[in-house]
Amino acid sequence: MFQELFPASVRGLSRFLSVSVLNLYHRDQLRTSFKEHLVNIVAPDLPESIRDNFIEAAKTEKLQSMPNSFLPPTSNLTEGLILLGDAFNMRHPLTGGGMTVALWDVVHLRELLSSSRIDLRDPESPKKVHSQLNRFFSQRKSRASVINILAMALYTLVSANDSDQPLKDLRESMIQYFHLGGICSSHPSGLLSGTLPSPVLLFCHFFAVALYGMYRVLLSSTSITNLFYQIYRSLAMIWTATVVFVPLLWSEWKP
Ligand SMILES: Cc1cc2nc3c(=O)[nH]c(=O)nc-3n(C[C@H](O)[C@H](O)[C@H](O)COP(=O)(O)OP(=O)(O)OC[C@H]3O[C@@H](n4cnc5c(N)ncnc54)[C@H](O)[C@@H]3O)c2cc1C
Repeated sequence: MFQELFPASVRGLSRFLSVSVLNLYHRDQLRTSFKEHLVNIVAPDLPESIRDNFIEAAKTEKLQSMPNSFLPPTSNLTEGLILLGDAFNMRHPLTGGGMTVALWDVVHLRELLSSSRIDLRDPESPKKVHSQLNRFFSQRKSRASVINILAMALYTLVSANDSDQPLKDLRESMIQYFHLGGICSSHPSGLLSGTLPSPVLLFCHFFAVALYGMYRVLLSSTSITNLFYQIYRSLAMIWTATVVFVPLLWSEWKP
């Protein structure tokens, strides 16, 4: 499919694949063995149609690395200073939310600091900017927190180690939940893209995924003895969902 869609000339221009490496190596080791990691560990998991191109690129091209960070927003009320973009607020790039948050922040600020609201020649303007910043923090909160929480929560699920059964169960449940279609996929897409800036909706869908996972796990029990294990497994799932979600919610909404 990849070969058919992209002729060789275009493939040369379109080789870009982001690979997440989770604390596998110390920085020095990473530099020397990253190519080996890509070829030996990552490549076998890729679809056959792109594997050869990936291995060739991993061996021959200069690889770029970028640390992934989580920086919850804080109210910066230092007079004369406004932080925006990654300097102000960062989340895992898995969901591609960085520019959505940054550009929405620009939209809010443009409105709040417009010349109809603040005359910058007025000696009192720094005080007014300061008070508008308070409004800015509350206006951006819903949309930015939804995107940030979702990015970090999804990353926790997709990067889960296979030995971590509750996270693995949640990840599987999330995939099956999206497959249900309707609002089970359209709402999460809206939350991710910033078009549905509702933390309540995010909460509902996140725990709906956990409840759906519990239902699937309980339904799969094969005997009474097995049922006890599946009850334990499903309770572990809802507990893990809470442990993942609540600290992220707190980091975004703490006063
Ligand atoms: C792997 C990865 C994939 C991503 N994918 C997406 C995506 O698909 N969609 C999306 O919306 N977002 C994505 N993001 C997030 C997005 O890239 C950032 O949110 C966005 O670039 C933030 O813009 P910024 O201007 O705040 O910071 P940056 O783009 O980091 O710009 C900061 C600039 O300041 C320069 N700089 C730093 N220190 C100094 C200094 N002391 N003096 C002078 N200059 C300095 C840096 O060199 C840099 O050019 C991704 C991020 C990563 C890491």
